[in-house]
Amino acid sequence: MTNEFVNAFQDFQVFGEFGGINPSITDSSTFTFMHPATMEKLFHEEVQGCFLYSRHLNPANENLSKALSLIEGTEDALVTASGMGAISTTLLQICQQSDEIICHRVTYGGTYALLKNFFPRLGIKTHFVNILDVDAVEAKINKNTKVIYCESLSNPMLEIPDLAKLRNIADKHNLKLIVDNTFTPYCINPIKLGAHIVIHSLTKYINGASDTLGGCVCSNHDFISSMKSVNDGAAMLIGPVLDSLRSSSILKNLRTLHIRMRQHSKNATYLANKLEEAGIRVIYPGLKSHPQHEFAKSIFNLNFGFSGMITIDAKTIENANNLLIRMQEEKVGYFAVSLGYYKTLFSSPGRSTSSEIPEEEQVEMGMTPGLIRFSVGLDDDIERTFERIKKCLSEVGML
Ligand code: PLP
Repeated sequence: MTNEFVNAFQDFQVFGEFGGINPSITDSSTFTFMHPATMEKLFHEEVQGCFLYSRHLNPANENLSKALSLIEGTEDALVTASGMGAISTTLLQICQQSDEIICHRVTYGGTYALLKNFFPRLGIKTHFVNILDVDAVEAKINKNTKVIYCESLSNPMLEIPDLAKLRNIADKHNLKLIVDNTFTPYCINPIKLGAHIVIHSLTKYINGASDTLGGCVCSNHDFISSMKSVNDGAAMLIGPVLDSLRSSSILKNLRTLHIRMRQHSKNATYLANKLEEAGIRVIYPGLKSHPQHEFAKSIFNLNFGFSGMITIDAKTIENANNLLIRMQEEKVGYFAVSLGYYKTLFSSPGRSTSSEIPEEEQVEMGMTPGLIRFSVGLDDDIERTFERIKKCLSEVGML
């Protein structure tokens, strides 16, 4: 089960000071110079092994960035203090007043709100379309369009955009294709499929411990350098800097990502099948009933599975609320937003992570009021977990 990205990261070896087997944590916001000329040079270009000021770059963030570029297969990467920090600065690096973005209509609520409510203040307009319909995407392109934006697996409907087709359109019109790969690290490689830029909320699977926020942008060297430019780089000038201590701990957690993703996927596949057999409507790309299941098989790296995200339909808000509380009481996991934790997390997207999307638009996206999103954890005994979920389903009258 060899994988080029896992192997590349496996070989990424950084020694700490005094020969430590983990890189040292740099506890400094600024860095000294021995020669004025080197400092001056660093204001204009990167100088290998030299650091100026932590908002620009620091050794811990450089190490994590390198690791992330290896797992996504890009020339370079940049880490930020949150996923939203990565999304907003990337888009602001590319777009200015009068520019336009085309975004999938089913998108994480924070991203949706940024594009729908905040960017218009800066004169940046977004068209929300069904990105699975590539003709609809192309129909919205005009001379002001700069970006096509989507998630590798949409949140929370778990749709899979055809990145190769979107890249063709992007190339034809000289646009950037940006893909948020938060739901599917290792499971999907957006760069291979056609993305120019890959974004992650490190807060989720990549860190896996729900103890910190973080984000990253992976792309070619020129784009990442432009984001760090002291004169006009969005990351440098807006300043969503990841703290070195957090950066170092995320790098350590990243070392087990390949094992975790397999277990998340294995457990999610088990639960998705069992819940469907029990008569519950389940959305999961690994199920034959998923409308894009055949396509999914050609897109996902199957040795990591279909990721750990499942959406089920509890039919009513009341059922959903009762189930969320009962499952928490039964120690299935936590009633909480977010994902990628080692325990199962569940919430109702319509009233949490997608609540920024107006109700009528939720209906258009197929988001029914009783939807529950699960981020399936790393449980060793998933059969036992299913028995607990079944008990809760039956108590709330769904079985
Ligand atoms: N992208 C996706 C798909 C998400 O689910 C989230 C957060 O839930 C984000 C981006 C934003 O990341 P963060 O919370 O780290 O800012």
